[in-house]
Amino acid sequence: MLNLYSARHYQTDEALYSNFTKATGIRINRIEADDAGILARLKAEGAASPADVILLVDAARLWRGEQDGLFQPVKSAVLEQRIPAQLRGGESAQGAQWFGISTRARVHVIDKTRLKPADVDRYEKLAAPALKGQICIRSGSHPYNLSLFGSVLDAAGPAATEAWLKGMVANLARDPKGGDTDQIRAVAAGECAVAVTNTYYYARLMKSQRPEDRAVIERTQLVFPNQADRGTHVNISGAAVARNARNRDAAVKFLEYLASDDAQRMLADGNNEYPVVASATTENPALTALGRFKSEAVPIAKVGANTAVVQQMLDRVGFK
Ligand code: FE
Repeated sequence: MLNLYSARHYQTDEALYSNFTKATGIRINRIEADDAGILARLKAEGAASPADVILLVDAARLWRGEQDGLFQPVKSAVLEQRIPAQLRGGESAQGAQWFGISTRARVHVIDKTRLKPADVDRYEKLAAPALKGQICIRSGSHPYNLSLFGSVLDAAGPAATEAWLKGMVANLARDPKGGDTDQIRAVAAGECAVAVTNTYYYARLMKSQRPEDRAVIERTQLVFPNQADRGTHVNISGAAVARNARNRDAAVKFLEYLASDDAQRMLADGNNEYPVVASATTENPALTALGRFKSEAVPIAKVGANTAVVQQMLDRVGFK
């Protein structure tokens, strides 16, 4: 039996778990909560925690879990061979503490009637005075944004990044509220001209048959930022073995299973994400329609580590 604490909750993940049980005979007991809930629960349970494997959905949170000592290092030839080093965190001689298992890009969605892709083809342009009152984005301190801003910090340095964040605050169409899908809908409703979102939220709308979602896709266009330079910011969902895992061997086996081509396909398709393993293939018409793009090369662990400094900047510039 394997105790899995998961912040993922997608239907295809069911098949993912039952296939593992079929192949290994190891049953999975799943405890679902959101990322913050899982981290709080692990901390409260301490050494008595029954958790074996932890699945979270953002580099900022995985980094936080590592800092809080909630994971243990895993040394596995399979994981090292299949998961790119750039998508692993807490690397030491004892192994990595967390592993990316799927990726999602953080992109711009524009109102085609108000902007051209070239107006926002770099994250840096979100601070351009021409965009005053035109940006919709969820809370700056949401982990998705902390990680994006941490990526910009890596590329631009502290002074330019803080000035950029200040410029973005001046360009907001409204105080940050809601999730990424709400920002996309606000663009289609004319409330703002550009939104910042993860790719899978847009792909979900692309696949929807509801007339109101069709209308959103009609009016908008997705733009992959920074294609001509460092590439688009890409975040991960990731897995770790719990610090006090009682079923350590089964936990490592499960992580290795997650890196298999089959599991990679299910993980990615379940939430319109991209696999991390090069040999894994997916069939996702929405993502295919969005096309291939250049991803940033910065190690995701560095992005995660930058988020603490980013939060201080957000407080200073008043980015809620
Ligand atoms: Fe999400």
